[in-house]
Amino acid sequence: MLTPQKEKSPTKSSKSPTSETPVQYVKGVGPRLGAIFASRGIETVRDLLRFFPRAYEDRTRVLKISELQEGLKSTVAFQVLSTRKIPMRGRGFSRSLFEVRGNDESGTLSLKWFNLPRGMDQKFQAGQQLLVTGTPKFYAGKMEMTHPEISWGKSVSVGGVHEDLGDPLHVGRVVPVYTEIEGVPSRALRKILWEALTKYSNALHDDLPMKYVDRHGLPKISDAVRDIHFPKTSDDNDQSIQALVDFATPSHQRLIYDEFFKFEFLVLKRRLQMERESAVTIGIEGGRKAVDDLEKSLPFQLTGDQKKAIDEVMHDLAQPHPMNRLIQGDVGSGKTAVALLSAGAALSEGFQVALMAPTEILAEQHYKNALKLFGARLPIALLTGRTKESERIPLLAKLAAGQPTLVIGTHALIEDPVQFKNLALIMIDEQHRFGVEQRRALKIKGLHAHRDTGKLVHPHFLVLTATPIPRTLALTAYGDLAVSTIKEMPPGRSPILTKVVRGQGRAGAIEAVRRELRAGRQAYFIYPLVNESEAEGFQSLRAATVEAERLQKEVFPEFKVGLLHGQMKSDEKNLIMDQFKKNELQILVSTTVVEVGVDVPNSTVMCVDHAERFGLSQLHQLRGRVGRGQHQSYCFFFTNPHGSENTQARLEVLEETADGFEIAEADLRIRGPGEFLGTRQAGALPFQIADLVRDRDWLLKARDDAMELLKSDPDLTLPENTPLRSYYDREGKLQAERLKTS
Ligand code: ADP
Ligand code: MG
Repeated sequence: MLTPQKEKSPTKSSKSPTSETPVQYVKGVGPRLGAIFASRGIETVRDLLRFFPRAYEDRTRVLKISELQEGLKSTVAFQVLSTRKIPMRGRGFSRSLFEVRGNDESGTLSLKWFNLPRGMDQKFQAGQQLLVTGTPKFYAGKMEMTHPEISWGKSVSVGGVHEDLGDPLHVGRVVPVYTEIEGVPSRALRKILWEALTKYSNALHDDLPMKYVDRHGLPKISDAVRDIHFPKTSDDNDQSIQALVDFATPSHQRLIYDEFFKFEFLVLKRRLQMERESAVTIGIEGGRKAVDDLEKSLPFQLTGDQKKAIDEVMHDLAQPHPMNRLIQGDVGSGKTAVALLSAGAALSEGFQVALMAPTEILAEQHYKNALKLFGARLPIALLTGRTKESERIPLLAKLAAGQPTLVIGTHALIEDPVQFKNLALIMIDEQHRFGVEQRRALKIKGLHAHRDTGKLVHPHFLVLTATPIPRTLALTAYGDLAVSTIKEMPPGRSPILTKVVRGQGRAGAIEAVRRELRAGRQAYFIYPLVNESEAEGFQSLRAATVEAERLQKEVFPEFKVGLLHGQMKSDEKNLIMDQFKKNELQILVSTTVVEVGVDVPNSTVMCVDHAERFGLSQLHQLRGRVGRGQHQSYCFFFTNPHGSENTQARLEVLEETADGFEIAEADLRIRGPGEFLGTRQAGALPFQIADLVRDRDWLLKARDDAMELLKSDPDLTLPENTPLRSYYDREGKLQAERLKTS
């Protein structure tokens, strides 16, 4: 976040309000809350004003008890009948439950608190009128609310809109709901924002060129920010309330557009810069012919999509600028084959190529496949943490001397002693498994002097992913990548029969697994945890270790069960994988380490326990571990029998489609981009209010506009663009850092 400019004195700041004023000087904040805010990155008034509501609540209407609907957060007015404290005993703790009972002429309601804030119980008195906002639910046939928000107003009337509701900030209007900050009650936060807006909202200045803002008929930033926090809605204007709830008011759109514009301008600028960097050209001096020859030697025909992807790669490689391309395609669609053929082009022209995979198992598998397909024709080497000293030293010498080699490996490739002389093509498999730093480290190893001109050249860069990236994400998180898509699967793959199994269906599924094992096939059982956990919310999760034992002893004593997880040493992992490949083990119990690229064609059953804990794309990846041979394959997703209908519906997408792109879109819609990308890459999406799914149209508009600006004034030197330049001078570094995703 920003470092606030130190104010000379608080008195001065109060005379001339600026958005740089430290947040503690806002009325109602002070040093203690100021420190809490700072710990959340809210240091200045500007940061505070940009702490946007995450939702809204319609409190324009006060309901009667009988009008409450289960699950629908509402404001209700009633009279207190009685209060009581109920002691509760649990394992190793004791606490009490505080209950307030009340009624109106239409019914009764009870309010409940665990750990009531101290002194609050004294504030309730029989006969008193209360105005309460909360989410009602039925419990033992009665309506109740847990931890509702109380408005200590003086008098209220029941039903309809109210005249004198106490504090108009909190009731009788649509109120903002903020992400909770521990130690700052939501009512206090609302009040603080109100104060900040009253005094400072005019200190916010537009930094986007007004030309674009006006083009879309959007409001000024100061108006938009004020409106976002405390929207003006008329009581009977349901439409505008809906727009608020949907984040679709002009003020929301203004801020969404603002974020997208600033982001896209940087993404596009970076892309243009990269397009100007130098790289060696590959393909013109025999590379293309080498690819065609290799293709002919394959034991299969390439699919149309594979051919197209190769053509796209070859086109990029022939340019004097670095390729920056992503190949996305479902598990088994043949991405690796495309990568290996492309490597052939570079090798034939005397360049070095590196293929980095996230695990040793996968690197070794790629190595073996590459040897099998091209071992006689291409120089291929393996480098992992397990490579013996006697092999490693000569290999490193070869690489440093510039011998054309395809080196397949793990993170071992980015370690210090590894030096390349002319690494012209870098390929990364399952790229989402790597952090930004690791990808960058390998790229740096590829910087080298051009062998003819001596000029510094950048390596070409190709990343592969089996987690398809929806278009909106491709435009943002991967805005600087060109994309090749392989949709067509190699022929002869029969669809995997998929079933979501809830509770009682389990026994039947287990018997189906047994039938497959008896027929000589093998099965995976996947669990979300390695060891049983005591942590709250996890007690009931079957952990891989315990389940491996149980499956062996109680369920499948007639077969051999093995255990594989990420906490094991790599020797142990390799041993287990070998045994499973040789069918010495029929069942492999594991965590998601199996997700990445493991290839055992004889396994035909994938069982995933607690499937609700995984993302759809991840489950789809797991499913891709089976259906790799000629036998019919099966996939069972076991879920919590008490899980919600919603969870069930979400998982059923997998029964209906095997299209990784459709699944990824559904996943993105349901879980949002942060979850979708994983925490590592979520940092690449610095959006506070914009949502890639919901606001897709605004993303496209902002992108076009940013491109227009980039063409007319790339360095933002025109007077009308200086506010934007100051913005980037002030805050652009952070965004630029986050943008370095590749
Ligand atoms: P991905 O990396 O996309 O998961 P791979 O490239 O590893 O897929 O291919 C999966 C398997 O299919 C490999 O055994 C590969 O040799 C084989 N394969 C690739 N392309 C074809 C094709 N066009 N026809 C038949 N088999 C193919
Ligand atoms: Mg692969």
